[in-house]
Amino acid sequence: MAWDFSTEPEFQQQLDWMRDFVREEIWPVETIFGELSDDAFRRLIAPLQEQVRERGLWAAHLDPELGGQGFGQVKLGLMHEILGTSPFAPVVFGNAAPDSGNSEILALAGTDDQKQQWLHPLLAGDLKSAFSMTEPHTAGSDPTLLETTAVLDGDHWVINGRKWFSSNASVADFLIVMAVTDPEAHKYQRASMLIVPVDTPGVNILRDVPTMEHPYEHYGRYGGHSEIEYTDVRVPADALLGPRGAGFLIAQQRLGPGRIHHCMRWLGVSKRAFDMLCERAVSRHAHGSVLADKQTVQNWVADSAAQMHAARLMTLHAAWKMDTEGAAAARQEIALIKFHAAVLHDVVDRALQIHGALGYSTDLPLEAMYRFARAARIYDGPDEVHRQSVARRILRGYEPPADGVPSEHVPTRREAARARFADLLEAVTSND
Ligand SMILES: Cc1cc2nc3c(=O)[nH]c(=O)nc-3n(C[C@H](O)[C@H](O)[C@H](O)COP(=O)(O)OP(=O)(O)OC[C@H]3O[C@@H](n4cnc5c(N)ncnc54)[C@H](O)[C@@H]3O)c2cc1C
Repeated sequence: MAWDFSTEPEFQQQLDWMRDFVREEIWPVETIFGELSDDAFRRLIAPLQEQVRERGLWAAHLDPELGGQGFGQVKLGLMHEILGTSPFAPVVFGNAAPDSGNSEILALAGTDDQKQQWLHPLLAGDLKSAFSMTEPHTAGSDPTLLETTAVLDGDHWVINGRKWFSSNASVADFLIVMAVTDPEAHKYQRASMLIVPVDTPGVNILRDVPTMEHPYEHYGRYGGHSEIEYTDVRVPADALLGPRGAGFLIAQQRLGPGRIHHCMRWLGVSKRAFDMLCERAVSRHAHGSVLADKQTVQNWVADSAAQMHAARLMTLHAAWKMDTEGAAAARQEIALIKFHAAVLHDVVDRALQIHGALGYSTDLPLEAMYRFARAARIYDGPDEVHRQSVARRILRGYEPPADGVPSEHVPTRREAARARFADLLEAVTSND
């Protein structure tokens, strides 16, 4: 009977170190990032990355033979809660999306040669990658509709199609492209993943799509979401990643841990916003008292604390289930947290509101957090798809009552209970 919510002391020390390090060394970078060239940014973070390596926390999502720590999802989740407080912390710790997810794919499905050529330099931070699946003209939330094709022509695959929201593609060295290789197969076995160097002829990165998070187009910067045209792109047959037709299977294995990390990072952002909410509540006066004395504000504080606590427990539970029973067993829990942990949005919204005009201004990071938070309800599957999957799974455990009468129908149950306990009821009546 083990229900244990504690963290091992040695690992807690690592977390404490991380919390201070991220706050002292990485948060300040946020305020000058816009003034730095990519090269200056790389030079700025290089010594920080070195400290992370020395501490044994670099690329901790991977197994030890690949230079990671083999921590498992609970520990990784606790780390990501701290890393989530700053958009630059994951890159300093060697586990920023999409490189972290792509390194998992390569570790999972790559051949020795592919690992040598792509995974090791990716982990060393010498290469960057992007994951190119979503298309502008098909529903990304239903990737069985993918239209990009890869056709085997002799000893080469020829890729044609258009993708967008391939995050970081405009700064990437290679792309992992999901394309239909087997149109006649079962809908979940039609697609495969292929490694495509970004300088392959026919790869045309059209733009970094301006978004709510980055409203002004900035081509070729970290964090951009690229639109890409693939026209007769030829890659060798051994560019195939994993077995032919295994694209969905690999994507599924990669997405589970990724969603736990996302949710924990969102909790990190929420906690930072929550601290701002509380600081403002105890410092701003209006209508005769500090804001903290207003019941609405007290409700915001209490509701935010409850939502974050619930999301945190749910996410760590999903991580624990994944560690103990495997990714497939934790599918329901992961779908639950993916939409529930989007409470991030509510907490940031309240923190922004309590700061009034200041919250809306770029003098505080809240407006940027708010824009970031909105995307969380769309990427890695929109909320509605996860809700649907949770509900379907739950409903599979139910059947309509045989006679059409609800099983809890009181008159029906009473009639059955009267028949069952007729002797006792008889005795009560005769004692009267
Ligand atoms: C910031 C960001 C980064 C991204 N990074 C990447 C990346 O690196 N690589 C990549 O390949 N993709 C990436 N994406 C794309 C992302 O995965 C897709 O946007 C997502 O899968 C949804 O697909 P879609 O945009 O085509 O929306 P659609 O599939 O067109 O869905 C639109 C809306 O329809 C509704 N809907 C869909 N299905 C259902 C349903 N079953 N029930 C009820 N309502 C439903 C939902 O409200 C949904 O938001 C990124 C997206 C964002 C916002």
